[in-house]
Amino acid sequence: MSTNTTSAYSDFHLQFIAGEWQTGKDDSTNTNTNPYNGDTLVEIQQATKDQLNEAYDAATQAQEAWAKQTPAERSAVLYKVVNILDQRQEEIVDWLIKESGSTRIKAMVEFGATRAITLEAATFPNRVHGEIRPSNTPGKENFIYREPIGVVAVISPWNFPLHLTQRSIAPALALGNAVVLKPASDTPVTGGLLLAKVFEEAGLPKGLLNVVVGSGSEIGDAIVEHKAPSLVSFTGSTSVGKHIGELANGGEYIKQVALELGGNSPFVVLKDANIEQAVKAAAFGKFLHQGQICIAINRVIVEDEIYDDFVERFLAHVKTLNVGDPNKQDTAVGPIINEKQVKSLKEKIAKAQEEGAKMILSGEIDGQVVPPHIFTEVTREMDLSRNEVFGPLVGIIRAKDEDDALSIANDSMYGLSSAVFTADMQKGLRFARGIRAGMTHINDISVNDESNTPFGGEKNSGIGRFNGEWVLEEFTRTHWISMQNEPREYPF
Ligand code: NAD
Repeated sequence: MSTNTTSAYSDFHLQFIAGEWQTGKDDSTNTNTNPYNGDTLVEIQQATKDQLNEAYDAATQAQEAWAKQTPAERSAVLYKVVNILDQRQEEIVDWLIKESGSTRIKAMVEFGATRAITLEAATFPNRVHGEIRPSNTPGKENFIYREPIGVVAVISPWNFPLHLTQRSIAPALALGNAVVLKPASDTPVTGGLLLAKVFEEAGLPKGLLNVVVGSGSEIGDAIVEHKAPSLVSFTGSTSVGKHIGELANGGEYIKQVALELGGNSPFVVLKDANIEQAVKAAAFGKFLHQGQICIAINRVIVEDEIYDDFVERFLAHVKTLNVGDPNKQDTAVGPIINEKQVKSLKEKIAKAQEEGAKMILSGEIDGQVVPPHIFTEVTREMDLSRNEVFGPLVGIIRAKDEDDALSIANDSMYGLSSAVFTADMQKGLRFARGIRAGMTHINDISVNDESNTPFGGEKNSGIGRFNGEWVLEEFTRTHWISMQNEPREYPF
């Protein structure tokens, strides 16, 4: 439970570069608004390319000394961050609600995930280890070292801004790297500046974490193309991710990339499933954060025999969800992040109807609040099935049998998360192993993230894995060093 006796952080109109809070020098301003009521939260003068360069210089300089600190010293900073998060829980949850339109329920989920990955990252400095491998050359020993990668560029999205930023920066810093971060324009505070305040308070040396808030046109490409970062950790849409991948490998300097991109999670209900439980899971996994989650349920696929029953019970349950003010304790569905996203959802609603889906639940769109929309008789060819929805709209697809359900589930260019409901665990495991995705949950929702299990996708959902041992590899470099202990005989 939080016991906040410290004063709330302020001055979020400033950039955090080289350990100093400074005014952005670009002509443009980021007006940060509350997506529910339109209130202006803060106006941020944006950063220029020169300020980005300053951030990279500071990161490069600070990183060497940081990498030389003992594991215990680096861990201590991360543990301090966990303590500060706990002390400031209410302040952070409040920012998640007002800046990203998180419902209170989602803000608590996000806070918990952020805390968990920070705690996990605090153990990383002592978990990095090398190897000794045998050699086929007489007199040689092979050592494999794992070293910090250097400077990491982090670009994060607006939907789980605190967690998805921290999921990159906490491991990166724990493992002896420095970071230059560009948060999403809709969430510069929860996606960056707030975390900079926390790390500063925790005593992170200056220059190791830099937060640069700027327009895509001024610093978007430059952050990737700069010489300094050896790794670009990008979380966001598949289209921007492809662009980042091209930039990172098509320019003057080749960089490693970790790309966590879009999803189109199938949620499969087989005929022997506990329907009541599947209905509740479908509602939570679809409508949490208004469906704006990369691993949200995007396609509900139900076996023919129970389709009508499932639809009837799902409709009844979704009708009971509270929609509106995200700050209210019992609100399930809050606002959409911005007007552009609302417009895209309106287009999707129109297209679903045009394509012949049957809309069995709809409602008035009020400002940026879009109530749940349910469509039945959806086919795998329709836009609702083919593309990521990122909103509170859901299509329910009828599958002839288990094989058909698996074929529909795999009929996607994405492969991030997935879920299957069945009473038969052997069948569930067989089905899960047949799914081409990075993550599958049996008798649960597709929305799961644990700090010690591999999070990531395949196909157009990206490259790389977060959390546990997997991120430990991702954010370090491997260095093979051999030692020839006796003179080797060369052929000439
Ligand atoms: P987005 O791709 O529009 O933006 C992501 C970030 O990239 C933002 O910070 C944005 O400012 C930045 N950006 C945009 N153009 C850029 C450019 N040319 N150069 C450098 N940076 C640029 O995504 P979004 O709308 O913020 O987030 C929603 C998307 O993210 C969805 O597709 C969702 O599935 C995906 N996502 C994936 C994961 C995952 O872990 N796989 C997690 C959350 C969100």
